[in-house]
Amino acid sequence: MVIDNKNISTVSVYNSYTGDKIGTVPQSTKQDVMNALDLAKIGEAIGKKMPASKRIAILRKAVTIMEREFDVLSNLIATEGIKTIVQARKEVTRALNTMQLSAEEAGRIIGATIPFNAVPGSEDRAGYEVKVPIGIVVAITPFNDPLNLICHKLGPAIAAGNPVILKPSDFTPLVAIKFSEILSEAGLPKEMLSVITGSPEYFGDALISDDRIRLISFTGGVEAAKVIQRKAGLKKIVMELGSNSPVIVLSDADVEDAVQSCVSGAFFASGQNCVGVKRIFVEEGIYDSFLNNFSQLTATLKIGSPLSEDIDIGPIISKESINQIELFVAESINHGAKIISGGKTIGNCYVPTILEADCNNDIANCKEVFGPVVTISKIKNLEEAIACCNKSPFGLHTAIFTNDINNTHKAINELECAGVMINDSTDYRIDAMPFGGVKNSGIGREGVKSAIEAMSETKVVCFKLK
Ligand code: NAD
Repeated sequence: MVIDNKNISTVSVYNSYTGDKIGTVPQSTKQDVMNALDLAKIGEAIGKKMPASKRIAILRKAVTIMEREFDVLSNLIATEGIKTIVQARKEVTRALNTMQLSAEEAGRIIGATIPFNAVPGSEDRAGYEVKVPIGIVVAITPFNDPLNLICHKLGPAIAAGNPVILKPSDFTPLVAIKFSEILSEAGLPKEMLSVITGSPEYFGDALISDDRIRLISFTGGVEAAKVIQRKAGLKKIVMELGSNSPVIVLSDADVEDAVQSCVSGAFFASGQNCVGVKRIFVEEGIYDSFLNNFSQLTATLKIGSPLSEDIDIGPIISKESINQIELFVAESINHGAKIISGGKTIGNCYVPTILEADCNNDIANCKEVFGPVVTISKIKNLEEAIACCNKSPFGLHTAIFTNDINNTHKAINELECAGVMINDSTDYRIDAMPFGGVKNSGIGREGVKSAIEAMSETKVVCFKLK
């Protein structure tokens, strides 16, 4: 929808914890999107001609500047975003690594020879395939990892030689703008990156539907993903979406280790994490001790200002998100869940919350809650746990705690997901690995190498020899 007659030129950005205004960014218009597309078309030609050595140099320089700007980037993440300062520093470290990996992979974009002459009648042919840049990439990113998820799109796009139009979350545009300045200082031509800010309702569908765009790389929720896919038309789409990641804890597991990993995985970034632990299925023999230890450890988590060094739980991104979390908890309880602890809002924070429910609870087991809420369920055996996990419409990461190789193998084979962590939390990730989801959790894969593949086309070359 385009709202032409609304006279808005800027949007405010807020400190998520205090609610204070900390800046403004332009509210982009439809004309801004058109200008960005015209510029990106020039960027497409520049990118095609730019040798890998130059792309590598830009990416390496960006890493050096990010190191210099480490504190500025971390503070922006912990102020406009939802992470504590300690978590924000971890994100910047990962973002540096993502850009470094992109520089390395830019030197490894290779094709292959094609054995034309193996086919009777083609003995006089020789040739190969090469990888070429796909063209204009639109990168749309969420608020919860406001720097690293941008790096996961821009690093590979630059490595592959593509121009990008970036649309960061309305809540976290400042770190995106800072990063775009870093890339410009690193030598990225201005035609190869534009940033569109503000709410999409003011610039309409052009950012999605224009035929010049060759790939939309979207990370966010299922609702927005469905709208974008409907409007995109004939272009490539990579989508990294939500989940309600499950963990299975079997009786032979190291309970203390499982509890520590699950508490950390459930409440990192106040549960605003696509691969965060949301559902835990515990075998009946160890259920009581797991629940008891889990509750005790959760009770030690400190809520407060994200800029304090010793805080575990910071803010939820918006009042609307808090309302959604409260609704999820209320509806889960209406469907039979029992609240073990939490279930309260304090200022802009939500208290870490433990629900107990069985997996027939369609809310607790099947909906995504993007906040610090975890559901724990008692299961009889692995079979039941796998059936419960697979009831969810999502399929990002799963995890199993056990020392039994056969049970591990069964879980790997039967869980409907894109990643299985053994004796670790669902939120384990390194930036080099393929990353994505099945079912409602996504289409395609990111991770630097996979993203470069998605952002490249294969061109076949065939010589007719004399
Ligand atoms: P969201 O879907 O509300 O927004 C994501 C981005 O899409 C924002 O920049 C938003 O402005 C933009 N957007 C929404 N509609 C648009 C439209 N019609 N045209 C153009 N842009 C549009 O998601 P969010 O609240 O920012 O993030 C939370 C969601 O993201 C959760 O569901 C979470 O699980 C998911 N997520 C997934 C991953 C992953 O890698 N799988 C990572 C982080 C977050």
